[in-house]
Amino acid sequence: MAVKACKACKHIVEGSSCPACGGREFADSFKGRVAIVQPEHSEVAKQLKHEKKGVFALKL
Ligand SMILES: [Zn+2]
Repeated sequence: MAVKACKACKHIVEGSSCPACGGREFADSFKGRVAIVQPEHSEVAKQLKHEKKGVFALKL
């Protein structure tokens, strides 16, 4: 199954619903991806306003 990005939180998703926010709207194309391992210590997570672990798209 092709990966896609959640429109609500940009989490990279392979299933039919977003594991991070439960969203069901996805973008088929996205640019870049960033893995956030420790959101509380990550500058990237702060910039993207992500508070959860996971792999996120940079741009939809
Ligand atoms: Zn989501």
